[in-house]
Formats: sequence, C-alpha cells, structure tokens
Amino acid sequence: MLSNLAKNKVSRRDFMKACAAMAVYLGLSESFAPKIADAVENASKKAPVIWLEAQDCAGCSEAFLNLTEPTPAQIILDTISLKYHETLMFGSGYVADKALDEAMKTPGYVLVVEGSIPTADPLFCTAGTMSDTNPARRPVVETLKEAYKNAAVVIALGSCASWGGVVQATPSKGRGVSDIVGKEKVINLPMCPCNPDHLAGTLVYYLTFKKAPPLDIHQRPLMFFGTLIHDNCPRRGHFERGEFVTNYGDPSQAEYCLYLKGCKGPFTFSDCPSRGFNDNVNWCIKAGAPCAGCSQPEFYAGFSPLYEKSNDVNLPGIGGVPSETVGTVAAAVTALGVAAHLVGRSVFGKKKEGDK
Ligand code: SF4
Ligand code: SF4
Repeated sequence: MLSNLAKNKVSRRDFMKACAAMAVYLGLSESFAPKIADAVENASKKAPVIWLEAQDCAGCSEAFLNLTEPTPAQIILDTISLKYHETLMFGSGYVADKALDEAMKTPGYVLVVEGSIPTADPLFCTAGTMSDTNPARRPVVETLKEAYKNAAVVIALGSCASWGGVVQATPSKGRGVSDIVGKEKVINLPMCPCNPDHLAGTLVYYLTFKKAPPLDIHQRPLMFFGTLIHDNCPRRGHFERGEFVTNYGDPSQAEYCLYLKGCKGPFTFSDCPSRGFNDNVNWCIKAGAPCAGCSQPEFYAGFSPLYEKSNDVNLPGIGGVPSETVGTVAAAVTALGVAAHLVGRSVFGKKKEGDK
C-alpha cells in the first residue's frame, strides 16, 4: 500500500499520513512515520521471500490471500519478491525444486514456514525430489534446515509452524520451527489460521527496522500478542457480573461470558478483540464461540477438551455449582460473579507473557 502511494505520487501530506497510520498499526508512536516513509521510498529492491509448506492445511496461505489492505497482490508484486511458494507459484516439479535451490543460494531472504515439522520420521512430510537426477523424495525437515542457513529472519506462520498446533498429537509428532532450528532467527506468528494482518505488519516492521520487532517469551511480537484477550473482551462485564452462557439456545444469554463453555480467553494473549479478522468483521467471541486459545503454545492438546470449562483455574463457587444453576439464580450468580472476579484478578493477574 505504502509503496503504491509512493509510486503513484500522491501528495507528500497523504503519503506521510499513511505512514503514520502504519506506525499506529504496528503499535508504534506516530513519530516513527518518517522512518517508515524512508524505508518505503528507499527500498532499492524487493525483499526476497521463500515460503515453505510443511504439515499444513494451507489455511494460513488462504488467510494471507484474504488480506484486503494491503492486498496480497500489492505485497507479492510490489513489496516482496516471492521466490518459492508451493501453492501460489506457477512452476511445478523439477522447475519448482530448481527455483528453491537457486533462491536458497543468496543469503538474506525472509523465510516463511507454514505447517508443523514431523519429528517421528522425516518421510511423514516431503515436497519435491532431491534433484533432477535423484528422484528420492525431499523431506521438508531437510529443506527447512537448508533454508534456515541463509535466511535473515524466519517467520513461523500459524500455530502449527510455531509449536506444532493440531498436528502435535498425530503419529508424525509435528513440532514447531524453533524445535528444529532453534529460536535465534525465529518470529512466531501463531493462531489457527494466522491473522494475515500480523504477517503484513511483521514484514513492514522488518523492512523498516531491519530487525525483528520486540518479542515475548514465546517469540511472538508484543505489538500483536502483548495483551490478554480476557482483559479486552466485550463480554468481560458479564463475567464480572457472573452472567455466563449455560444454554446456547437461550436468547437472553446470547451476549453472556463464555467461560463455562470453555473459553480460554483468560489464558490467551492476542489482539483479537481489537483487530478481529477480515477487516475486523468478526472474531470468535464476537461470533458467540469460546476462544480456543489458538495463539498459545498449549493449543490444541494442552487446552483439550476445548469446550469444557478449564479446571486448572480455581474459581470457588462456580466450580462447585452445577452449570444449570449458574445463570438462573440471579442473586447467587451475582455473588458468584463477584467472587469469581476477585479470585480471577489474583489468578489471571499473574501475567508473564504479555509483560513488556
Ligand atoms: S472468559 Fe472469555 S468470554 Fe468471558 S470475559 Fe473472558 S475472554 Fe470474554
Ligand atoms: S479468539 Fe482465541 S481462538 Fe479465536 S482467533 Fe483469537 S486466540 Fe484464536
């Protein structure tokens, strides 16, 4: 978007306004606008990007293709030079393998990895062949290790690439990129699928500052994963009043807190409440579904069963009251809600991940 504005010679004033908006988008002060403008205007060549797919469903690629501002075309055609992407590239077979080998020879590219890496046996996930004279299948884990060497930065896109995600529990024992190559160059952008805004924002940050944004203990950018969903949830008022959804079919509970239905918002760091998906049209809790905690390393197996109240947080009163009672006896519920809130403050208040 910014490079388009620069090329199309919009007024300097409008261009700087767009750069200021991007600074805010990245969680920075507007005073960073000149630095972003400088990076966009003086980018002498597009950033080379290699995008590998391992054990994935291509959902993160699809999420990326649904970006609206900037559009995927603006990113692919104007901002980066996409050297390899199995789903999007035109070439296939030996031609694609050769393109990957050539791209990996020149140091300094951005490596994006989508999907988990099998650790039980490399042959659980292969892509392409070893060479045009050796038809043996090429394990993705070997391609990852090779691509890692010359990468300037590695973006593990989605929960599977970040720490295994849904595939953790399969016979392949899928693990995250950091588990294979270490944390040094890795930025995790979890979620299932990824929020494409996070990818676009991380790319802009990297191109502007030539380094990764500040990360939390799980290698996630603090600008996107620095706040607890529970702290910004539009249903938080109902949580505090002890108004919980116990029956999805009851219209009077439609806006109530989803904690008793398994909501992992109290344990989950992400900016979903303010950013949403698809131009902030919607997100899980706004749509009436409990947060599954997909931005956390515990997702999926560690949070299972997803649709049951978490038992590892002790909320006296609520835990001992049948769910059908909660939400139907107003006075009792209010008292329980206050108790839950007070205990919740002390239990949920021990944030470590979002600490800056
Ligand atoms: S438990 Fe879930 S639905 Fe309830 S306030 Fe917290 S984040 Fe929102
Ligand atoms: S609300 Fe929870 S489950 Fe939904 S996208 Fe955000 S972190 Fe993932």
